[in-house]
Amino acid sequence: MNQLFQSAKDITTTLTKAGHTCYFAGGCVRDQLLGIEAKDYDIATSATPSQVLQLFPNSDSIGAHFGVILVKHHGFAFEVATFRTDGSYTDGRRPESVTFSSPEEDASRRDFTVNGLFQIPNSGEIIDYVNGQSDIEERVIRAIGDPNKRFDEDALRLMRAIRFATKLNFEIEPQTWQAIQSNAHLLKNIATERIQAEFSLILLSPHRAAGLDLLVKSGLIQHFLPEVLNLIGCEQPPQFHPEGDVYVHTCMMLDMLEGEVTLELVLAVLLHDIGKPATYSYDPEEDRIRFSGHDSLGAEMAETILKRLKYSNKTIEEVCAMVANHMNFMNVRFMKKSKVKRFMARPTYELEMELHRVDCASSNGITENYDFLRAKEEEFAAEPLIPEPLVRGQDLIQLGYSPGPQFKEILQAVQTEQLEGKLTDSAQAVEWVKANY
Ligand code: ATP
Ligand code: MG
Repeated sequence: MNQLFQSAKDITTTLTKAGHTCYFAGGCVRDQLLGIEAKDYDIATSATPSQVLQLFPNSDSIGAHFGVILVKHHGFAFEVATFRTDGSYTDGRRPESVTFSSPEEDASRRDFTVNGLFQIPNSGEIIDYVNGQSDIEERVIRAIGDPNKRFDEDALRLMRAIRFATKLNFEIEPQTWQAIQSNAHLLKNIATERIQAEFSLILLSPHRAAGLDLLVKSGLIQHFLPEVLNLIGCEQPPQFHPEGDVYVHTCMMLDMLEGEVTLELVLAVLLHDIGKPATYSYDPEEDRIRFSGHDSLGAEMAETILKRLKYSNKTIEEVCAMVANHMNFMNVRFMKKSKVKRFMARPTYELEMELHRVDCASSNGITENYDFLRAKEEEFAAEPLIPEPLVRGQDLIQLGYSPGPQFKEILQAVQTEQLEGKLTDSAQAVEWVKANY
């Protein structure tokens, strides 16, 4: 039996032996019914926070105010939460207060029926106050109680609804869906960090394209990433993009990403053509649509967007590099060896390959550039793409050159010759510098 589950059960055994009611709650029950391995176990109990602390003195009591104790066991941490009712939500974000209550009331404060289930740890019996089991069977996300009221209480649930629908590949029940649409504007009350976290989880789900579409159709995306809406109806040259407009193209790419993806890759796919609407031009003589400079404008826009959404500097840097470089794949077959090596040595190269693969696979079907680079990888595999330099700044000083802007130029030029295979040792390189500079 798995360690995490066993550890969770140990905790519930201790609580039960001390006379408290205690259940597994929320996501772990849902996942188990779906045959998905739970990634954590949340425990709900009649024990008050101080009673929980008494039984598990090594716990983190930082959330005790909200009825939550973080119990550590076998290197895992478990949220042990007292059955509670949330007080009023005056700011639409977090309850003013919590009141300890019955399991039934605790179930009804939760967001969606599929997240409102309890399970008795020992017997595995499900306790269902919210009709969550039938919604899991029917694969439906349904708000518990009046959906309008529930989204009004806490607008993060708008994003969570889309997140669970995407992650679980469930439909959103019509009344819940309507309430999402009519309350979409409440997202303005939610901290950017929390919207971003939900958005990232949506993008990391395999059904991310459907998730993006839900964000668009619900009206939610307008409140944090309106730029994507301009991709809809942005026509592309049919000779290169038979699949349709930029939005369709982007969604297809999101769907074509295979296996485990990084957040940076998905964001780069999402934003790679974000500069197209603003650079659209039609040349009647050639009868051709162009998007000149959409890669560099796209990189600038990506930076603005990702900064606004408070992504990390590393994420922003990587995504912008990928967006800026995505059109250069067209040129790789005509690049000098040194340029190809530098292209391949960029830190985002492997991610860019995947972006390029799906960029072509969703449109023109061209694979030449991808195949060319894969072949080059083999050809260059014997040694590092960028080997140790033959000449360094120190050497130039010894040769009598004085440090300055020319230094970089000389070193770069020597490296180019080295990457081309024309210079192979330092003595040769020194002679070459003397002859050329
Ligand atoms: P995941 O597997 O993605 O962690 P989860 O269902 O465990 O999904 P969490 O965000 O970890 O989701 O929350 C745990 C439980 O707490 C949920 O299942 C739900 O019952 C409840 N919950 C969390 N956030 C909210 C919210 N904003 N409003 C109401 N209930 C919530
Ligand atoms: Mg969870």
